[in-house]
Amino acid sequence: MDKKGTVYLVGSGPGGLSLMTKRAREVLDLADVILYDQLPGDEILASLPAHAEKVDVGKYGDHHTREQDEIEQLMVSYAEQGRSVVRLKGGDPFLFGRGGEELETLRAHNISVEVVPGVTSAIAVPASVGIPVTHRKFASQVTILTGNEDPTKEESAIDWDWLAKSRGTIVILMGVKNLRKIAKFLVDHGMNAATPVAVIERGLRPDQRETIGTLETIAERAQERKVRPPAVIVIGGVVSLYTGEHVIPW
Ligand code: SAH
Repeated sequence: MDKKGTVYLVGSGPGGLSLMTKRAREVLDLADVILYDQLPGDEILASLPAHAEKVDVGKYGDHHTREQDEIEQLMVSYAEQGRSVVRLKGGDPFLFGRGGEELETLRAHNISVEVVPGVTSAIAVPASVGIPVTHRKFASQVTILTGNEDPTKEESAIDWDWLAKSRGTIVILMGVKNLRKIAKFLVDHGMNAATPVAVIERGLRPDQRETIGTLETIAERAQERKVRPPAVIVIGGVVSLYTGEHVIPW
């Protein structure tokens, strides 16, 4: 049987070509097949090489589980045809990208995998507006979590009670939909309602926008301004360092 191809699990960084790694560029340029979704953003998607077969595997419905299986099967079957496959993901492939599950599936099929780390939005997007996720004065720990989970649901995989009592910065990805519930829950469970919050939409892209408030006000402000995903939510004292200026990291 012919040799199997390698699968590259590649992080694109938060949006622009300048924050993509050299290795990511190399493997993209050599790929036979690129499986992508919309998160890497227009600039990066427009730069994908013409010669590669490009497959949009974005999840636009509510059938995430079935579609995730299909994506993994696609990666396996392309690699088994001996083709070199890139699975391109926004930010870093192992932070909420389901990259870990893809790695397991590929290993189970004896397919060789290279992971190409990326600059994660969880840190780079706050940084772009001068918010460091840690700072000796404000936070010596940072918790990064998915806001996909409703804090009022009993079976949540996140320990929301612990979070409300924890010190340090909280960074929430995929949290726009549940922002109101999350902010209320944290205050009801002991966090100071005056804790500053930043919601940064489309970070490091041309149409980046920030909405700033406190745990008490942020849900209202975000609603008024019609905040939409993708956005990074930052909660904690470090948000007081936000000045409105963009600190472009290149
Ligand atoms: N692996 C990615 C995260 C995937 S989860 C990473 O490391 O960045 C998808 C979520 O990431 C989005 O819902 C949003 O919360 C966040 N996100 C990714 N890129 C972003 C960007 N450029 N601006 C704002 N949020 C972003």
